[in-house]
Amino acid sequence: MSAPAMDVLVSLCKRRGFIFQSSEIYGGTGSCWDYGPLGVELKNNIKRVWWRDFVHQRDDMVGLDASILMHAMVWKASGHVDHFTDPMVDCRECRHRFRADQIDEMDWTHYCAATKGNKFTIKAGEPCKHCGERRTLCPHCGKGELTAPRQFNLMFKTFMGPVEEDAAVTYLRPETAQGIFVNFDNVLQSTRRKLPFGIAQIGKAFRNEITPGNFIFRSREFEQMEIEFFVNPHDRLEDRPADEVWHDRWIAECQAWFARYGLAADNVKLHEHGREELAHYSKRTVDLLYRFPMGWSELMGIANRTDFDLKQHSKFSGKMLTWFDEERKEHVVPFVIEPSAGVDRALLAFLLDAYQEEEVRGEKRVLLRLHPELAPIKIAVLPLLKKRGEIVATCHDLRRRLTRRWLTLYDDTAAIGRLYRRQDEVGTPYCVTVDVKTVGDPDKGEPGDGKVTIRERDTMQQLRVPIAELDAVFARLLDAGAPWSEIAAAYPRAES
Ligand code: ATP
Repeated sequence: MSAPAMDVLVSLCKRRGFIFQSSEIYGGTGSCWDYGPLGVELKNNIKRVWWRDFVHQRDDMVGLDASILMHAMVWKASGHVDHFTDPMVDCRECRHRFRADQIDEMDWTHYCAATKGNKFTIKAGEPCKHCGERRTLCPHCGKGELTAPRQFNLMFKTFMGPVEEDAAVTYLRPETAQGIFVNFDNVLQSTRRKLPFGIAQIGKAFRNEITPGNFIFRSREFEQMEIEFFVNPHDRLEDRPADEVWHDRWIAECQAWFARYGLAADNVKLHEHGREELAHYSKRTVDLLYRFPMGWSELMGIANRTDFDLKQHSKFSGKMLTWFDEERKEHVVPFVIEPSAGVDRALLAFLLDAYQEEEVRGEKRVLLRLHPELAPIKIAVLPLLKKRGEIVATCHDLRRRLTRRWLTLYDDTAAIGRLYRRQDEVGTPYCVTVDVKTVGDPDKGEPGDGKVTIRERDTMQQLRVPIAELDAVFARLLDAGAPWSEIAAAYPRAES
């Protein structure tokens, strides 16, 4: 399936309360985003399953939550003060700023001399088909000369304490990784770990990107989910250096993780960094690319950072950052495999992959086929008739009961067909409907059957299930991950 256009997703996210432009009432920032009521649930679910799968379920991983503000020397040692730069160019006419290394990947504006100066927008990297010229001027206004590239440091500078002097300068962390390296020895001493083991962290990072954009793909404040996995470089596994084997394992693990939570195999591919692309500390880096609407772009990176960071911090701090190998009786500076993912980019990819439009009985149905573990709301409890007090009361009882285990919402603000569509559009996997048959009709002397209708999002199938069995059914679907077909085989279909 091809992804929806970005503006279609941006509009859904705003309309349904997933993501808003930061400070929108003041015109917005264009580089930061706020997660609304549904967005925060989705984001928390992504972080929760990542933490569960990579930290809690492994016996070779521990977690960490380091502070965002760190000693300024951290960034000197890591190389960020001197090297965390992008080449920037400015247009002398319209003052737009660009990353010099990305300018040829942008569509460009051209006033073509061969067509009496007509204005065209030409695809990135292509020449004008009328005059054959290639872009030399500003791609935005098509008129201004560009300045020579200057290196621009992406770290946000700030001051620690009340005095704004050079000695107080520090930075908002541009990655979570360094918080892990500087705590390597603390974690080692407090947990008595043996190599190989990893430290995982989820947290905010800040980069003063020259050209933020493509919605939450590139913003100036974002979140990362990072692992530093420490390996003894003297070990061998499968007849190869252990760090190389662990690197391959982590690439496969990360790919499998994104597939497990819904990304289609066709939309993800690996990109091996060539020599010229490789960071100075890296022995090998592989990116997972996702087919975003603007083209294949980095979803996450998995780098073999060698012993670079621990050695740098050891040199700058004067502290030994090694692990003692009892068998070989030697101190070792571990090699580090770093799977580094952006929470926001993962969220964007999950939304894009889940988005689907289809026609149902002549009407457009928009749905998010989100994995149930990621879906912001797991169950919606809906009354078929909101005028009937017993129906509404039963709904509220059910909502209160179910929401203790699975986030459950009550909605009665439209007719049932409309309510279902609304839940489809935000990815709610199951709706529970309470109707007259459930509670009975005293006027007609009919007792209630104590059953409700469960509707599944993707198939739109409806089953009639006793209220007493609801918890067990949802435990199978939402906790044990049972397929809907298994439940559908056990209960009768409801008339829709
Ligand atoms: P890019 O080349 O896209 O700038 P990068 O290679 O600099 O990314 P890393 O430093 O490897 O990115 O950061 C790890 C992950 O953090 C990225 O794969 C991405 O998911 C996320 N990330 C990095 N920068 C941003 C940003 N400005 N906005 C949102 N997510 C980001």
